[in-house]
Amino acid sequence: EEIIQILIFIKALFDYDPKEDKAIPCKEAGLSFRKGDILQIMSQDDATWWQAKHEGDTNPRAGLIPSKHFQERRLALRRPEIVVQPLKLSNRKSSGFRRSFRLSRKDKKTNKSMYECKKSEQYDTADVPTYEEVTPYRRQTHDKYRLVVLVGPVGVGLNELKRKLLMSDTQHYGVTVPHTTRARRSQESDGVEYIFISKHLFETDVQNNKFIEYGEYKNNYYGTSIDSVRSVLAKNKVCLLDVQPHTVKHLRTLEFKPYVIFIKPPSIERLRETRKNAKIISSRDDQGTAKPFTEEDFQEMIKSAQIMESQYGHLFDKIIINDDLTVAFNELKTTFDKLETDAHWVPVSWLH
Ligand code: 5GP
Repeated sequence: EEIIQILIFIKALFDYDPKEDKAIPCKEAGLSFRKGDILQIMSQDDATWWQAKHEGDTNPRAGLIPSKHFQERRLALRRPEIVVQPLKLSNRKSSGFRRSFRLSRKDKKTNKSMYECKKSEQYDTADVPTYEEVTPYRRQTHDKYRLVVLVGPVGVGLNELKRKLLMSDTQHYGVTVPHTTRARRSQESDGVEYIFISKHLFETDVQNNKFIEYGEYKNNYYGTSIDSVRSVLAKNKVCLLDVQPHTVKHLRTLEFKPYVIFIKPPSIERLRETRKNAKIISSRDDQGTAKPFTEEDFQEMIKSAQIMESQYGHLFDKIIINDDLTVAFNELKTTFDKLETDAHWVPVSWLH
């Protein structure tokens, strides 16, 4: 009789050093890993300590890692806004990957739990990022292209990289057309620069969750709709989208299979050298005019990048440092080419 062994792979969403872990029964038996590493699960027999090895590691010896359940629990305990509820007895029997704690966030004002009784798959991993079960995915010729999300701090050069990529192959890459409620200018056409709609319709669309993101500028609304991403993908193009990192979790669906690239600034010394003659539209400037970079802009960029990485780093598939623009662009291009030919790790839920 044939025994079919199902391999389980997980992506680590946090850094782990067993030497720093007071709870581990034996530090030498622990397996250290970094956020983003792919691990193969060898045993989930114990509810608290799983056995795992790094994916592709030929050394057959597995090491101990905290189980998802255990790690979620202790992370949540350190964060008082997240309420940990005990597992139901019926769930306690199996210690498999999908078994998970029920977490709910207490609303400070009403003291009511906002997300009670969610299924384990629906947890907001941004709350307590531990592990995510993943599987290799290679795009087939008939598949739609994956949505590519670019994130990065203001001034890092994300728009320039996006523009270069679009120019390199306008048939292959596409961007979304945003919606606005402002009046159309004479040289603009509906559906090209913007999709022009009424304030009433915009508000209705917001209510109906039609937007990935939206904002207000000079008494008008601007926003990117989910349908605008669909229409780019429907033209069989790679859709490039730049959004705030907090919107990424809403895009992580089977339909879009987003590949998230973080454009990261180099060191402050390199920023000073490379951006000497460049200009920035600072977030502190409400006029929106481009001015030479100031020391404050550099510091703000670095700080903002650090915050993004620590809060949303577990959602990044790739980090590209924009030191020299040409080098960064070539790296970006290679990343796109590989995305179309190579297998990449994606959450298992995207393949069903
Ligand atoms: P304008 O009316 O001059 O075309 O654009 C005004 C402002 O709207 C710009 O600063 C631009 O950044 C912002 N904007 C354009 N499209 C969008 C969008 O899709 N979402 C958001 N939040 N702002 C946008």
